[in-house]
Amino acid sequence: MDMPELQGYSGIVRKLLEQENISIGDEIEIISDGRKYRGILMARYELADPNYITLKLSNGYNIGIRVAENTSISKISAGAKPMFMRPPKPQTLSGLPNVIIISTGGTIASRVEYRTGAVRPALNADDLLAIVPELAEIAKIDTEVLYSLFSENVQVQHWIGMAEAVDHFIHKGVDGVVLTHGTDTMGYTAAALSFALQKPPVPIVLVGAQRSSDRPSSDAATNLIAAVATAAKAPFGEVVVAMHKWHSDDIIALHRGTRVIKLHTSSRDAFRSVNSRPIAYYQHGELKVVANDLNPRGSNNYTYKPKFDERAFLVKFFPSMKPDILSILADSGIRGFIIEGTGLGHVSSDWVPIIRELTERGIFVGMTSQCKFGRVNMNVYDTGRDLLKAGVVPLDDMLSEVALVKLMWTLGNLGEGAGLEEIKKLMLMNIAGEIYSRSLPNTDSW
Ligand code: ASP
Repeated sequence: MDMPELQGYSGIVRKLLEQENISIGDEIEIISDGRKYRGILMARYELADPNYITLKLSNGYNIGIRVAENTSISKISAGAKPMFMRPPKPQTLSGLPNVIIISTGGTIASRVEYRTGAVRPALNADDLLAIVPELAEIAKIDTEVLYSLFSENVQVQHWIGMAEAVDHFIHKGVDGVVLTHGTDTMGYTAAALSFALQKPPVPIVLVGAQRSSDRPSSDAATNLIAAVATAAKAPFGEVVVAMHKWHSDDIIALHRGTRVIKLHTSSRDAFRSVNSRPIAYYQHGELKVVANDLNPRGSNNYTYKPKFDERAFLVKFFPSMKPDILSILADSGIRGFIIEGTGLGHVSSDWVPIIRELTERGIFVGMTSQCKFGRVNMNVYDTGRDLLKAGVVPLDDMLSEVALVKLMWTLGNLGEGAGLEEIKKLMLMNIAGEIYSRSLPNTDSW
């Protein structure tokens, strides 16, 4: 999660800055077209025009300066290294439930460096506790820094690491677990933990933030308070995601780990339950549980199965897509595919022979829908029936991302020699609420 010294700069401009040994935050002088500019070099968006430099002037305004052949750049002074002073940790009250906050990174563990505009990883679980002192009134909190990753960098090995850490704290007897996580792939991790830590005796709550904790519009504190309260008090033992229900701060939704997806790039209410409702809401200090099919807190049916096999692949079908890619991937060792098809679960007819060949080779092919809402039904049209005959397994109302994680988990747990029937049986078995025979209507319409 290190911030590159020249975040957002590329090509000739980057070269020029490197030649002058300039980093973001340094004070520099630019002479361009006879005009002189002095200010602090700011980080910039990767996708912006690469020929511009962003400077913060002494009056506080940022300007973009176009770099041309006659532009000269020089360093005036090096920028001071940003520092973060952690407020003192709040006092612990006695008699409260024990909650462990495991930090893995993401925006919730970042802050904006206002001088340069860069988002920096600066907060660990201890810092979060210190800057959200309300948490100490809800639970006795211990903290653990497991990773410091933006979640786009989370890999299967990190899911396993998280599952191991959670299992460790469950055995130590905590009353609830909170994992702070980047939002981008939080849905995948939530699904992975739902399969790896089945029917846990305590709540396992993943929480993130769309805006970093030091911004006035940050959702970090409210999400974190709801997550800790859920971990401390919820009557269920489930893997859930705690994020804003809508734009305002008053309600945080608790989504089931196998039903949740990030549907908005930047809004605070980016997370939605799909084909399902959130299982609970946290509002004004109260947790309101709305689902009635939950694993109760303290249940002794806990199963720990943290194995995953990465040789699974999610394919999104699009018009004119050629099926040969499936054979190439299968030849490279892929053991199973989730195809995200159109509508009720279709791909073009020229895919049928290749899919038949794959299933005859013992490679699993499951079908989900690009529609997200609703379930696949491959009995309605001829295309669907032909695909069924070729061995495609319709995956009901499972989210594609969840189906992929489940396939990795299924392949990992059944091991190398698993036959198609065994894989199919496990894929169609409801393990953690990922597959319902009757989808619940969505009350939170998008
Ligand atoms: N890219 C970040 C991440 O997923 C975004 C976030 O945390 O919200 O880690």
